[in-house]
Amino acid sequence: MSTRGTAAVTEGGTAVLHGIGVSPGTAYGPIAQAAAPVMPAADEPAAEDPAAAAETAIASFMDVADDLDAKALRADPTARDILKATAMIARDRSLHREVTKRLHAGSGPTRAIAEAIDEFAARFEALGGYFAERVTDLRDVGARTIAAVLGEPAPGLPDLAEPSIVAADDLAPAETATLDRSLVLGIITRAGGLTSHTAILAAQMGIPAVVQLPDATTIPDGTLVSIDGGSGDVVLRPDPAAVDAQRRRRQQLSAALAGVSGPGETSDGHRVALLANIGGVEDAELAGAEDLEGVGLFRTEFVFLSAAVAPTVEEQTDIYRRVFAPFSGRRVVVRTLDAGADKPLAFADLGPEENPALGRRGLRLSQARPKILDAQLQALAAAAAATGADVKVMAPMVSTASEARWFAQQVRAHGLSSPGVMIEVPGAAVRARSVLEAVDFGSLGTNDLAQYTMAADRMEGELSELLDPWQPAVLAMIATAADGAEEAGKPLGVCGESAGDPLLALVLAGLGITSLSMAPSRIGAVRLALRRHSQEDCRALAAAALAAETPASAREAVRASLAPDLIELL
Ligand code: PEP
Ligand code: MG
Repeated sequence: MSTRGTAAVTEGGTAVLHGIGVSPGTAYGPIAQAAAPVMPAADEPAAEDPAAAAETAIASFMDVADDLDAKALRADPTARDILKATAMIARDRSLHREVTKRLHAGSGPTRAIAEAIDEFAARFEALGGYFAERVTDLRDVGARTIAAVLGEPAPGLPDLAEPSIVAADDLAPAETATLDRSLVLGIITRAGGLTSHTAILAAQMGIPAVVQLPDATTIPDGTLVSIDGGSGDVVLRPDPAAVDAQRRRRQQLSAALAGVSGPGETSDGHRVALLANIGGVEDAELAGAEDLEGVGLFRTEFVFLSAAVAPTVEEQTDIYRRVFAPFSGRRVVVRTLDAGADKPLAFADLGPEENPALGRRGLRLSQARPKILDAQLQALAAAAAATGADVKVMAPMVSTASEARWFAQQVRAHGLSSPGVMIEVPGAAVRARSVLEAVDFGSLGTNDLAQYTMAADRMEGELSELLDPWQPAVLAMIATAADGAEEAGKPLGVCGESAGDPLLALVLAGLGITSLSMAPSRIGAVRLALRRHSQEDCRALAAAALAAETPASAREAVRASLAPDLIELL
């Protein structure tokens, strides 16, 4: 019998929990809990020998730094930079001095560390932008150092002895990026949201993940669970027959996916290009080897998240050349730096803002700092000329037709031929026809389009329901933009996470979307869904979704009309 709720988590028997699926796929295995941070005891006495305690604290900071550097060596390029930057915080002498000062003023050995971290966190927050973003890393350094002083295990990801499902309160993007794909079967977290960058990374890595699961951290280590990263269901101690059924479905899906390959098209041959979202050289190399038609979104800001100074034209050219190389003869859509909001760049910071998601981010920041855009376009033009990839450049966060025209001029002035824009601001979606008349193509960023249409912060996990791309208002916004693109005679793709949902992909194709760009791990299921439905089917599914009153009924309406053998599989 299945039960629900907190008590059922620690007791024996089957229990079903519900979270939000953010990276589809199913997995079954034992839970490995990430260690929670150890807190200083409330009644910790003053250090008996402050000088000796300071020595221990500093040695622990240095051990933490060495450990992070060792992790960096094994990590991919994006995670490597983040880990190295975190190690630098642990080596910071002014932080060590602050701890020493507090020990001499009468604080206990671990409280002195916590207080120094709080003090630095307040300073970082006051500086805003890049520094404010580093507060999570600073607190991570504090938690690791306190654990080291106490001889406790480091908080965060466990060292896995067997393939497991990792459970955590939340995972920082850097932690997610360092996960060992061969040992992490799945991820469940208490916090997190649908389009948080941790969720995006999990999908990129093809690891099933469920977030917003209230009981994630209380499931005992070793408990066998099955998770469904699509529906968000997590079953504790599942019935063996159900595990078997899930395994059979996984096998059937693999067999069905193996049966289709090549370009994205409907059963009657209507083409919808299947493209990859990438964030750097390693992603490009992995995606380049896959059966896909190119890159629909290269998030260039991911490459420079921990760069303290602006990369030179030569440095950028080298990186872009390595990204383009695997795609000779295929398209690569590069997005110029989408700095700001949740992705601040130290070298492109315009200072603190009350509402950074509504502030000078994306193209607005490029207009305020034209030299940064100029250097990037120079590097892109040089790298494009040096490789056989069909490079197209688009701008993020475009709101008006005049912004689109300005960007198109900059792109063409650098000898790059195909300017495009992201449509992710409702204003641009409503005016898609005139915005797209200024450029060669558009790409819908449904993550931000949902955030701004529903006035719901995409970083706020609790608002995930409003951020659902199946929300009628979001679907209506997409349909409006698609109509505008058709009137302008310009192709319009989708590169938000919604493109990787096979059911929604059918709706998007029915609305006239011409390409779908997603984490490469999602392409197989989307290709399968398209191949099994005609363009007319897709149009009917789009009409059914648009007529629904809620996200759940829209999804159900589409599911109910799928090709029968796909209903259980997708
Ligand atoms: C989007 O907003 O949908 C998008 C693709 O860009 P990002 O997730 O990087 O903001
Ligand atoms: Mg966006």
